[in-house]
Amino acid sequence: MSYDVVVIGGGPSGLMASIAAAEKGAKTLLLEKGRKLGTKLAISGGGRCNVTNRLPEEEVIKHIPGNGKFLFSPFSVFNNYDIIAFFEEMGVDLKEEDHGRMFPVSNSAKTVVNALINKLDELGAEVRMKTPVKAVHYDQNEHTVILDSGEKLYTKSLIIAVGGKAVPHTGSTGDGYSWAKKAGHTVTALYPTEVALTSNEAFIQNRSLQGLSLRDVSLSVLNKKGKPIITHRMDMIFTHFGISGPAVLRCSQFAVKELMKGHEKVSMLLDVLPDKQKDHLIQEILKNMENSPKKSFKNILKGLVPERLLDHMLTIHKIDGEQKSATVSKEAVRNVIHDLKHFRFDVHGSLPLKKAFVTGGGVSIKEVVPKTLQSKFMHGLYFCGEILDIHGYTGGYNITSALVTGRLAGLNAAAENKAGSDV
Ligand SMILES: Cc1cc2nc3c(=O)[nH]c(=O)nc-3n(C[C@H](O)[C@H](O)[C@H](O)COP(=O)(O)OP(=O)(O)OC[C@H]3O[C@@H](n4cnc5c(N)ncnc54)[C@H](O)[C@@H]3O)c2cc1C
Repeated sequence: MSYDVVVIGGGPSGLMASIAAAEKGAKTLLLEKGRKLGTKLAISGGGRCNVTNRLPEEEVIKHIPGNGKFLFSPFSVFNNYDIIAFFEEMGVDLKEEDHGRMFPVSNSAKTVVNALINKLDELGAEVRMKTPVKAVHYDQNEHTVILDSGEKLYTKSLIIAVGGKAVPHTGSTGDGYSWAKKAGHTVTALYPTEVALTSNEAFIQNRSLQGLSLRDVSLSVLNKKGKPIITHRMDMIFTHFGISGPAVLRCSQFAVKELMKGHEKVSMLLDVLPDKQKDHLIQEILKNMENSPKKSFKNILKGLVPERLLDHMLTIHKIDGEQKSATVSKEAVRNVIHDLKHFRFDVHGSLPLKKAFVTGGGVSIKEVVPKTLQSKFMHGLYFCGEILDIHGYTGGYNITSALVTGRLAGLNAAAENKAGSDV
């Protein structure tokens, strides 16, 4: 069989690419190896499908630290607000939640995925499920897609939308990288991002803080000189292997990149009381101690931070929390408060890519035309979504990147087939 456009991968980027190509009248085929379309899209945002983010365009790009700037050009054609309009036109009402995250009003991922499937159907695009692609061959006029079954399909334009390598049970097993290399593309080093970090610190290994959640803390990744590379203020949790939670996920790619430079460990700096000034806090506590000299030191500090963390700090400084505050030295107070404001510890690695939310690295963006998503090396070849070396924070930013790059790849793949098309 011969097609104008074949799209490999039925994630958000491939679905959008197929819709865009079919809208332009291209004979379009979408190939998906799994039993379902949009599997990863459906589990995003805690299973409610975080379709995009409605922060201003520049903010969205700032939240895509992995080459987000590449998206300035595609955004000039189709941006996050266009995604919102696109879904609403299909009858999917969206609502805004914290940090600009957009979800279907139904709170059901099915609403979003079904709307995309219905749209494909309405446009007459062909969809083949349970159809893994084994290989691709590039040629002068047409490219050949070889299925696992041995069947061969021919296409003028090929869109590779197979995602990265994170959470492979969703179908994203990194199949597209070798196809990109075959066309002469560079695939930059792959690494886990939006991932929990591991630590060999004794307090992690002996699990003394395991399960402790901290709300609204400030967490930084430090460089070798002890200067913050990045700071995020969000929640976090200590686990049996290290640290996790929103602040950690956002910091993770910066820590992982430092470790990739060959450093054995990376220092993290935690401020558990980001709204309080250290000196004020010390003065406040010293005053309370003076007013209540018979109260135990631990009682004076009660409510400041979770008790388990306080116990940990007291243990580090060998302070008996039960002793009367009159007997506690000013230096001890300073030490404890210093650690609550500047708790420094090391991380030594991360969970593997298969347990990360997002893949760092991928097809080099230098070799792809930003406005068309076309390969600079091969006619009729396009890349979109997480296979590209673009990665953002969770919160709808990766999905935005997938939908926007998918849209442009689809429009332009169709146009390449149809001289004079009005893209
Ligand atoms: C648990 C989880 C939560 C997430 N939450 C968020 C969030 O809140 N916000 C956010 O922005 N991002 C989130 N992400 C990331 C986001 O879901 C992905 O970045 C996005 O889905 C990537 O889209 P894609 O189309 O490039 O690839 P994918 O969604 O990975 O889709 C690729 C598709 O290609 C198919 N495929 C692969 N190989 C072949 C082959 N050989 N033949 C045929 N088909 C093939 C796969 O089966 C898959 O269906 C989350 C990810 C995970 C795992």
